[in-house]
Amino acid sequence: MDLSATRFCRNLSAEDVELIRSEGRRQRFAVDEEVFHEGAPGDGLYIILEGAVSIVTRLPTGQNCVLSQMESGDYFGEMAVYDGEPRSATALVRESLDCLFVSLDLIQRIVERTPLAGAMLVRDASLRLREFNQRFLKETLRSERLSLVERLMRSFVHDFRNPLNVIGIAAEMAASETASPASRRQARDRVQKQIGILNRMMQEIVDFTRGTQVTTVLPKVVYADFLRDALLDLEAGAGQRGVRLVVDGALPAVRVRLDGARFARVFHNLAQNAYDAMVGQKDPTITLRFEVTPTQVLTEFSDNGPGIPTQNLPRLFEPFFTFGKDHGTGLGLAICDRIVQDHGGRMAVRSESGCGATFQIFLPMPLPGDTDRLEREVEARKPLDVIPPV
Ligand code: ADP
Repeated sequence: MDLSATRFCRNLSAEDVELIRSEGRRQRFAVDEEVFHEGAPGDGLYIILEGAVSIVTRLPTGQNCVLSQMESGDYFGEMAVYDGEPRSATALVRESLDCLFVSLDLIQRIVERTPLAGAMLVRDASLRLREFNQRFLKETLRSERLSLVERLMRSFVHDFRNPLNVIGIAAEMAASETASPASRRQARDRVQKQIGILNRMMQEIVDFTRGTQVTTVLPKVVYADFLRDALLDLEAGAGQRGVRLVVDGALPAVRVRLDGARFARVFHNLAQNAYDAMVGQKDPTITLRFEVTPTQVLTEFSDNGPGIPTQNLPRLFEPFFTFGKDHGTGLGLAICDRIVQDHGGRMAVRSESGCGATFQIFLPMPLPGDTDRLEREVEARKPLDVIPPV
């Protein structure tokens, strides 16, 4: 390529171009050779007559990151011209390179003779900075998306463990030679139920990643019926870990709006945390207690583990907040909180270090005269009783 047509020279006078041609140092490099290395003194810039160069830097992870690519007609290594600092990156030859080295001293002389050359350098620097910003933004978004995927995967694994454990226990129960036909049927029912839960969870993840809101139609159920079922699963898990499960008082026989399969995950996640906290503990115990008022039903889920440090309490329900666990995802309680909120309720926690933890679930009681949403939707779809004559 002719020097006068290169990006650096195209706006310069013929005299300036001649000066560069005569005083510039012609250099050739083979593929994979370094023109300069990161940290080397910045002594001038390079105009590419033929070939291609990658400007690369080494990341703390040891990988090379390509900052930009330069081809015939471009110039590189100009940063040293602005600040006189050592090279901030390495120039690596991609296609055999024929270039002209223009020293710092020569550039200064040209800028003094032709101030326009200085302005052009500044404009190019600003263009490159813009390009770099765009790429940086894209890269940041990409890596944030990747780390979100990683976090989601962890949550996926976290939530799948509970149902899989229950399926494992049920399978063992069914396979036992002494199992009665009734207990085999019970095991089959439990496996089927957990498969249903797994399917629901997958659907939720799909909905979550699509960014759509999960719209739940909440049927009215007797809370005690739901709890009896949930307690069966809890007992199996607790028994396996040598944890005592105590129900303090009667199960509340009140009607609440509940998506049972989803709400069971609140108990699973709370139990999982309690098991984790009580490992190696003497007489590990989970206690469930209920309280009904005219407006809400309160469920208290307590353990006698080491409790939660006071400074952690305000952050407990935040997604990804985890403390003191090797493989914590910090999603268990955030998911509980979201499920309870989707039921119109709220969660709270009480704990002191060394004195166990109590999680509270407040569920609202349906208001008198409140119709199921499903019923309302069916009502809205009713055809007209009288069709006007045409
Ligand atoms: P993860 O269990 O994956 O860390 P969670 O959201 O379920 O995520 O819990 C967040 C943190 O709350 C846990 O890391 C733990 O420090 C604390 N925690 C939750 N439940 C209990 C409990 N019953 N006893 C002590 N600490 C608990």
